[in-house]
Amino acid sequence: MPSEFELIRRYFNRPCAHTDLSVGDDAALVRPASGMQLAISTDMLIAGTHFFPDTDPCDLGWKALAVNLSDLAAMGAQARWAVLGLALPDVDEPWLSRFADGLFHCADQYGVDLVGGDTTRGPLAIGVTIFGEVPNGSAIRRDGAHPGDEIWISGQPGLAALGLACLQQRITLPTAARTRCIHALQHPEPRLALGLALRGVASAMLDVSDGLIGDLNHILERSGCGAEIDATLLPLTPLLAAGADEPLARRCLLAGGDDYELLFSAPPSMQTTLAALSTQLQLPLTRIGHITEHRGQLLLREVDGRLLPPLVSGYDHFA
Ligand code: ADP
Ligand code: MG
Repeated sequence: MPSEFELIRRYFNRPCAHTDLSVGDDAALVRPASGMQLAISTDMLIAGTHFFPDTDPCDLGWKALAVNLSDLAAMGAQARWAVLGLALPDVDEPWLSRFADGLFHCADQYGVDLVGGDTTRGPLAIGVTIFGEVPNGSAIRRDGAHPGDEIWISGQPGLAALGLACLQQRITLPTAARTRCIHALQHPEPRLALGLALRGVASAMLDVSDGLIGDLNHILERSGCGAEIDATLLPLTPLLAAGADEPLARRCLLAGGDDYELLFSAPPSMQTTLAALSTQLQLPLTRIGHITEHRGQLLLREVDGRLLPPLVSGYDHFA
């Protein structure tokens, strides 16, 4: 059986593009460019909590890095370096090989160097820490939203939640829709190009991992304001077309987890910029409401005009 060091050499030691010293020493050495702040984030994926233990390891490798890249996208940062903590129940080389393929596929696509990590025996768990760069003072934080700003969401929130419901056999969708939704769940695309382009455009931003409404509340808390979501603006049509009924589509869109789309606020004067950006990136950007001055108050303007609290909330691991 190969040693721990042989496994690291075989599967996790690849050439790096912008790193002085990578895998193999006690620490990696990197050099952030002058005038840049480091943006640092970490996310863990635990078997049984975040993924089914029999998930394709290639998808898992992709997702472990992609969810971290999504956090950097949400800051408007350029992703640079990652470290990988891996707990494995045993040495399964076909599994490791496919896991590394998925991880490096994602790393190559977004220009990230894997510069180190830790490998140990234990219940299957994957932790990635990501380091990115952002010009001093230009990160897009959660606390910058102002009353009057409009609220936008990228891509199609809700697909991943439909995919999860399919895997849990809670719903049945037509084959093509089922495939698309499960792909959204297992292969999220971190919105890095959008995040970079929103510097100087978005006033506040985060990535939606625990449901749109719950995550929007984080922006409202940090920014000290409220929000009104307009039910007529919600992009429900693609979810209905996938085979979800109206209540399910709405629940998935507003409260489903694992979207990894960017939710942001921007002044109304940015509408044309955002329309152009959407075309350029070939990524839907949908305006779904606006920020209000009513601190902590999140309301949904129903199709019939009534203003109600949304009857959904975000995912909480300890609730
Ligand atoms: P140390 O004992 O000094 O902490 P390790 O033996 O844990 O070092 O790791 C040896 C080298 O391999 C280090 O450079 C470490 O960053 C790297 N490494 C360990 N596990 C991984 C992994 N899963 N992915 C990438 N690099 C790893
Ligand atoms: Mg170590």
